[in-house]
Amino acid sequence: MKKGEFELIDTIREMFPVPEGSLGIGDDCAVIPQKGGMDTLVSTDMLIEGSHFLLSDVSAEDLGWKSAAVNISDIAGMGGRPVATFLSFAIPRGTDDSFIDGFMKGYREISSKYGIPLLGGDTVASDNTMCINVAILGEAPAGKARLRSMADTGDTIYVSGPLGDSGAGLKVILEGIERGATENALVHRHYRPEPRVELGMKLSGIDGVHAMMDISDGVASDLEHILAASGVSAEIDVRKLPLSEDLKKACGLHGWDAVRLALEGGEDYELLITADPSLDLSPFGLTSIGRIKEKGAEPINWIGTTSMDYKGYHQF
Ligand code: ADP
Ligand code: MG
Repeated sequence: MKKGEFELIDTIREMFPVPEGSLGIGDDCAVIPQKGGMDTLVSTDMLIEGSHFLLSDVSAEDLGWKSAAVNISDIAGMGGRPVATFLSFAIPRGTDDSFIDGFMKGYREISSKYGIPLLGGDTVASDNTMCINVAILGEAPAGKARLRSMADTGDTIYVSGPLGDSGAGLKVILEGIERGATENALVHRHYRPEPRVELGMKLSGIDGVHAMMDISDGVASDLEHILAASGVSAEIDVRKLPLSEDLKKACGLHGWDAVRLALEGGEDYELLITADPSLDLSPFGLTSIGRIKEKGAEPINWIGTTSMDYKGYHQF
């Protein structure tokens, strides 16, 4: 494939005009107005064996959890309430029943934790690898879903929790590093992300909270989506990035760059928020990491570091 992921999505977007009043391709979720003062939110995500997960590394339960979690997180990223999920499965012939049982156990665990019913899907046999697609429906009061396009010059940029743990967990898995308590905690953060649903809903109830999204590809890449959609740029002080004790310890032990993991690792599923500078969102557990600026030559100006080449995760 010659086109990059985002270029391909842009081509598709140009082919399909969006009905008046709806929000289509380009955010965490589509937003479709309903009668009765609510908007419906919709998102879907696909996981392919071999590229998003390795059957040899992940437990079936963890995979079930994570498949739902990444979708729930897209609703959280808009500040919405998840309503229901739909699960579609392409299962390689010869797959052990215990794998599917385990997957459904993990999927049910997170579904009941967050009170989200599974209401449908599709099941087919596959001659190739395993493929899992989850679609999610959510809702938000009309016009209250927080979009990537809502950032304003002068806004404070916040993140909702420690970054880089999931990326470090993935390194532990891929590099086959011996696991003590620290490494296990990071691997757990990778396989069992907790979507920030309650927090997202609280924040979308506050007027001065502007743009919001979930961090799936890493702040370096995800922030660029907010900047492009809002026509602004940003200044990020990497010294302010919240890092867990586990991450700092693992970076010390294994010689990893914590800042790079925090910015590029991805899959932390924390929230990235921009808000009016008159607000102080630290009581919500948010950490301020920078500021929105008028559109400039560079999308992001990195402060407190000599590296300027931070990039998030890109599919192809
Ligand atoms: P996220 O990381 O938040 O899940 P993605 O980067 O996967 O978002 O997708 C970006 C946007 O492009 C979303 O609005 C998504 O719905 C849309 N999108 C991705 N692939 C397609 C496709 N094949 N057809 C239509 N829309 C797509
Ligand atoms: Mg998202």
